Amino acid sequence: MIIYKLSEPCQKTGIYVGDTFYPGYTGYFKDKQTAMAFFALDYQQTSKSKMFVEAVDHAGNRSKSGFHHYIKNKVFRKDVLNISDRFLSSKMPEFENLIKRNGDNSPVQTFLKVNRELRKTNYLKIMEVVQNPEKTVHWSGRFLRLPKSARKSAFADHRTYRYKGKKIDQQVHLGIDLASLARSPVSAANTGKVVFSDNLGIYGNTIVIDHGFGLFSMYSHLSERNVQAGQMVSRGDIIARTGSTGLAGGDHLHFSMLVHGTFVNPVEWWDSAWIENNVSSKIRDAETGG
Ligand SMILES: [Zn+2]
Repeated sequence: MIIYKLSEPCQKTGIYVGDTFYPGYTGYFKDKQTAMAFFALDYQQTSKSKMFVEAVDHAGNRSKSGFHHYIKNKVFRKDVLNISDRFLSSKMPEFENLIKRNGDNSPVQTFLKVNRELRKTNYLKIMEVVQNPEKTVHWSGRFLRLPKSARKSAFADHRTYRYKGKKIDQQVHLGIDLASLARSPVSAANTGKVVFSDNLGIYGNTIVIDHGFGLFSMYSHLSERNVQAGQMVSRGDIIARTGSTGLAGGDHLHFSMLVHGTFVNPVEWWDSAWIENNVSSKIRDAETGG
């Protein structure tokens, strides 16, 4: 997150990270020209990605400003998923009407269409859902993690899918899988507005909450959804139950966090020290003119 001061009202301002634009918003601080922007590197970007603040005034004049930053190298895990005939025969029927059926309609071909094409369609839907974030910061404090749960997959695991010992596909896992008891209650990780509550292909029953200024949390594979789009929820409210809808082998919660259209590592948002260092202390400094 970055806080910066504009010298005049602007028609467009925000942060570029490589080619990705993250809008900055005024209105949070008493000073009408102090802007705040949440931004992120996606899992594929490196220290070579250029980062700068940009502001465009009403006459169309563009100005850029760099800022001090340091990017740590991060190596993501590799994981192998063996796709069994049992998994295919129990899971593929629910997807058969969601994909284009042509040529080879074997269960493994259906799986590949689901894992590639349907995954892409679902991704585009998520990008549409996060398009116009709330211009209010609804959240505060750390985000809640599913209680008493074990982590089954990490953020940005590079997954290889194998069928009968042969590699058939690879994808990147842009969330964290948490397993607890079947049908465990799921609470809103923080306060915000529900912007999506529906079935979403590979993600099954899914809820997306808009926390404001571009920050979103997403809950997938749910067996039950108890909230509707448009509804405000508070941190800790029970919104759903875990399940195994969509492309899930067993009952778990797939939890994602997004900064605008970029999936980020939820571990950071569960950590109160990380939030204090990267967000809260900066806001306090800006409020006291530090
Ligand atoms: Zn997952």
